[in-house]
Amino acid sequence: MKDYIIRGMDKKGNFRLFVASSTNLVEKARRIHNTSPTSTAALGRALTAAAMMGVAMKGEKDSLTFKIKGDGPIGNIVTVANSKGEVKGYVDYPYADMPSRSDGKLDVGAVVGKNGKLAVIRDLGLKEPYSGQSKLVSGEIAEDLVHYFYLSEQQPSAINLGVLVDKDISVKAAGGYILQLLPNVEEESIDKIEEILKKAKPISTLIDEGLTPEEIMEELFGQFEMEILDKIYIEYKCSCHREKIEGILLSLGKKDINDIIEEDGQAEIVCHFCNKKYQFTKDDLLKLINY
Ligand code: ZN
Repeated sequence: MKDYIIRGMDKKGNFRLFVASSTNLVEKARRIHNTSPTSTAALGRALTAAAMMGVAMKGEKDSLTFKIKGDGPIGNIVTVANSKGEVKGYVDYPYADMPSRSDGKLDVGAVVGKNGKLAVIRDLGLKEPYSGQSKLVSGEIAEDLVHYFYLSEQQPSAINLGVLVDKDISVKAAGGYILQLLPNVEEESIDKIEEILKKAKPISTLIDEGLTPEEIMEELFGQFEMEILDKIYIEYKCSCHREKIEGILLSLGKKDINDIIEEDGQAEIVCHFCNKKYQFTKDDLLKLINY
């Protein structure tokens, strides 16, 4: 099954909902970055959240960067998504791992760290990108994002993100949902939602049981009259290309490029997101600075 997100809402306008299945894209991220199980879960949760926030944007060229920097061994987690369902990401230390928690779950909170912050930067094609940030609460990512949405965007929400890693360390199931309360939500609906979420199985379990996003919406929120507004396929995709890398090299400045030419006689730039290697010979570098 391909990965996709459905966007829906209840017909009475109480809440908006995004449900994502992201098993393939998280597995692709794992293979690219060779992440340990706990790092796979951390990066996978962030990628899934970024994909949902990405498709929530309207403009064709809009993009979003979602960064997490805790004091755990994984270092920075950086993810970038756009409104077309393309997402990519990396972590500083993909081999960082942690013993599982006493309940058998991967200890994402420990690998990310509780102390730190997260930032969301939306580039909507305006002069200045819109950005907000908040402190981490637990390093578990979903909880941290709920806190962020509430403080930074005044948006009450409920979020569940999950990655199930198989015995052979490949990704068995991944997915997530973001529920956002709308301004006119009824008090009794809030109670109902809380009740539902308290009893709900983790999203990774539902995906692992073979449920589609539509079925998950029905399983969780069937007592509301739900309407699906959109279905968007999502994938792990890096759009790096040689000209873009040349631009990054040029931004170092002529002097630094000259230093590279004198010291190394060549340069190799590796894309953080897809690990593609770009080679620049001495001639390439000379052409760049003399252009
Ligand atoms: Zn790339």
